[in-house]
Amino acid sequence: MKTFCGRANPTTGSMEWLEEGEDYDYHQEIARSRYADMLHDKDRNVKYYQGIRAAVSRVKERGEKAIVLDIGTGTGLLSMMAASAGADFCYAIEVFKPMANAAVKIVEKNGFSDKIKVINKHSTEVTVGPDGDMQCRANILVTELFDTELIGEGALPTYEHAHKYLVQEGCEAVPHRATVYVQLVESRRMWSWKKLFPVHVEAEDGEKILVPPSEMENCPGVPSVCDIQLNQMPSSDFSTLSDVVKMFSVDFSKPVQSASTYYRVQLEPVKSGKAQIVLSWWDIDMDPSGMINCTMAPYWVKPTSALQWRDHWMQCVYFLPHEEPVLQGEKLFLTACRDEYSVWYNLQKARADEEEHKADVCVESPVCRCRAHLLWNRPRFGELNDQSRTRQYIKSLRKVLKTDSVCLCISDGSLLPVLAHYLGAKQVQCMQPSRTDLYHPHELWEAFFKANNLEDKIKIIEVRPELLKPSHLEDKKISVLVGEPFFTTSLLPWHNLYFWYARTAVSTHLARNVTVLPQSASLHMMIVEFQDLWRIRSPCGTCEGFDVRTMDDMIKDSLNFRESKEAEPHPLWEYPCKSLSEPQEVLTFDFTKTVPQHCLSTEGSVKLLRKGKSHGAVLWMEYHLTADISVSTGLMQLSNEKGNCEWNPHCKQAVYFFSSVIESEILSDPTAVTYAINFDTKTGEVAMDFKL
Ligand code: SAH
Repeated sequence: MKTFCGRANPTTGSMEWLEEGEDYDYHQEIARSRYADMLHDKDRNVKYYQGIRAAVSRVKERGEKAIVLDIGTGTGLLSMMAASAGADFCYAIEVFKPMANAAVKIVEKNGFSDKIKVINKHSTEVTVGPDGDMQCRANILVTELFDTELIGEGALPTYEHAHKYLVQEGCEAVPHRATVYVQLVESRRMWSWKKLFPVHVEAEDGEKILVPPSEMENCPGVPSVCDIQLNQMPSSDFSTLSDVVKMFSVDFSKPVQSASTYYRVQLEPVKSGKAQIVLSWWDIDMDPSGMINCTMAPYWVKPTSALQWRDHWMQCVYFLPHEEPVLQGEKLFLTACRDEYSVWYNLQKARADEEEHKADVCVESPVCRCRAHLLWNRPRFGELNDQSRTRQYIKSLRKVLKTDSVCLCISDGSLLPVLAHYLGAKQVQCMQPSRTDLYHPHELWEAFFKANNLEDKIKIIEVRPELLKPSHLEDKKISVLVGEPFFTTSLLPWHNLYFWYARTAVSTHLARNVTVLPQSASLHMMIVEFQDLWRIRSPCGTCEGFDVRTMDDMIKDSLNFRESKEAEPHPLWEYPCKSLSEPQEVLTFDFTKTVPQHCLSTEGSVKLLRKGKSHGAVLWMEYHLTADISVSTGLMQLSNEKGNCEWNPHCKQAVYFFSSVIESEILSDPTAVTYAINFDTKTGEVAMDFKL
């Protein structure tokens, strides 16, 4: 069987459908899966084990046989815990075939084949009866079907079905209950992920302020969850306006309803401010008494308890439909609306007429009406709202633009054309090449230009760079070619080098003395020790005494299948690391020239300067807008004594995990890591190899 996989081609900026063998999807799924991360989550594993032991004991004390249903068994871990705790029999359900196969092997290796039956089905397909998958209904229900939003992986419909058809009434459930918590906050940083702030430009003829169109002001945004490592958000970046409040709970030992509903709590702000964001997380009580609790609460909630790092469960950021000024002590209602798979929030001021109130409690799931939220994702909003970054672009545009400049901007959803116009360019055009079929940004830009009286000032050219004709440019040559560069289809930092390919495609339209901004780019690299991110790629060996090496081997195979020489994108502001080497410039790309035919490659060695574990290399791009103004999409600052790194908060960097980790100890004779890095100009991809 063949599958087709969509991938953006960094040399054309467009999506292409590549035919892949049937193994491809499977290997991607395993290699990028969170199984390793879950197995490393000690806090989760210990508490599940305690909860399962307690549930088995309660059933045994009642003199019943302990029959366990484990929905989504993965490696079989929770079933093995149950069997070890004395369960009489476990039905381990797993829908994903490769995992079900792995579970069979792992269960066998650990000697539980007679106690655990692995069933490769979705739980809703499982049958009960003498000829069914299960002989009888279970009296212990064990699952781990939660995502950061709790219900995003379909836990509610799965539980609803299981209670109806697969478990006995009054069954024990591990976890017993989940509770969702919320806290109302004001945060310019997080709010900047949802809406565009006015952009101030000092122009020759006075200050210009670029404002978003009114549709954008009141747009609820998109429904997709914003899950982040909230523990990396410094307390100076937000201000809490309420206490932590319990929003809703789900008791998993009773029938569960998945149909859409809402929950409402009353709040009294502890401080006046602008209500913008609802931060949310959950905890699970493994037993009815609540003594075995596993919580995702961020650092400021219980500052004394040790935090467990995990990436499979983080915290959620919800954006209120609009900003609401609130007063300390005022009566407010916060509503959580949910459907089967997602949650969204709404804030109301208390009114005397309660009845009328109820009617507007449940608002529709957020749907972007302004189109900007389809064009810009949340980090991109943050980037466009980054004033110091904008200032760098303004400063460099001011250097290169003249009153007779004919300017073409090639970047997706960029404000540069407007800046260029304000800064006095005579003629400004823009091209947004990686526009997809699903979405045409034209209407958005029309609204944008209208809100700023810029109609007819900036022309959107709706052809791909290679199809550009002189008539699109009113038969003029381009004197200033600009780009951020940013393209929505880019996954890895160097994919934005598409700007270079586009520049090459429009070569014949460039004036002889054209200025290209950025004039060049460079690829930088540094060896790092991760505080925690290493766990997602690290073999686990045994987990709570169970041998899970079969899983480790599976992940290793999948990583080797295709991706071994490839890096993966991660937003490193969320994943702290320590530099073990100096940052090093490894390749440069000259945008004043066309893309060469030959590959660009480099080899060298980098010295490890600090004690630590070399988990991998981080790579990022820097753009040299002019000779003396550069912007980095990676490292912003390095604190030299400790090697702590500050990363660009809007961009993902490329991480290349080394297949084996070395520990550098002796600083007098620094260990060197040798590297070979190759930029293939035919494919636009970077391949790399490191030797430790
Ligand atoms: N129980 C394991 C793995 C949890 S990951 C552990 O705790 O370590 C969740 C697993 O559940 C995934 O492997 C997913 O494929 C599976 N899954 C999710 N919903 C399911 C359902 N309704 N029926 C069967 N498997 C399901």
